Amino acid sequence: MRIDFMTLFPDAIEAMMGQSIIGRARERGFVTIQTHQIRDFTTNKQMQVDDYPYGGGRGAVMQADPLYRCWQHVRQTAGEGYTIYLSPCGRTFNQQVAKELYAEHDHIILVCGHYEGVDQRFIDECVDEELSIGDFVVTGGEIPAMAVADCLCRMAPGVLPEESCYTEESHWDGLLEYPQYSRPEVWHDRAVPAVLLSGHHGNVADWRRKESYKRTMVRRPDLFARFDESKLTTKHDRKVLAAAKEELAAEMGE
Ligand code: SAM
Repeated sequence: MRIDFMTLFPDAIEAMMGQSIIGRARERGFVTIQTHQIRDFTTNKQMQVDDYPYGGGRGAVMQADPLYRCWQHVRQTAGEGYTIYLSPCGRTFNQQVAKELYAEHDHIILVCGHYEGVDQRFIDECVDEELSIGDFVVTGGEIPAMAVADCLCRMAPGVLPEESCYTEESHWDGLLEYPQYSRPEVWHDRAVPAVLLSGHHGNVADWRRKESYKRTMVRRPDLFARFDESKLTTKHDRKVLAAAKEELAAEMGE
């Protein structure tokens, strides 16, 4: 997987994407991440990348030409990629969108906007898709782009120790993850659920699944409504779901 960032703040991206799991994956060559300073592609002395919006109003708009020249450079040096502009007006990013992008594209170019956004003509000419990380506005596209890139890179072979590290996480199969605990066994008079200390793998797996159902039903009924119960093909799996529903009803005093 290769990801190119077009940004006015490459240092911010390098600082974050050079750390921890993604940083190590880059060092070991499991993913390639490259940043490109849009300002380097200006043709004026001041290296200005923005100008006032036609029609009036406050703020500045990123001009099409430096973006276009930067985009051309990325394509000439790294090859054609699927170009995504991070924008609050885009399709909402989630794990299902991430799976789709990962399956369809091994090279993605992420365009980070700033100020009031980007000249629409660059978007019309060069962008394949606009993606939003949620119904809110942040100052620039760097944080949204890093969220998308990090999520995609986690799926690349070698980045995490094994596939289950990302398939057994919240949202992969439309559910939220079960609660997690670590040492000590008792902290502030709160004990770890006994089943997790039992060493019985089957019981632990059932408990985790049950808690995952319960958490999703309580916190995200919208997700649970979309959960396809017909996917539960074994009698045992259906029994675990039924137990989760029963326990939740009892806990809620029904
Ligand atoms: N004027 C724009 C609007 O109202 O839709 C917001 C511009 S925002 C201050 C500057 C940049 O931050 C955008 O060009 C975009 O790249 C990024 N951005 C802000 N919120 C975002 C979000 N929810 N998802 C993705 N990118 C976002």
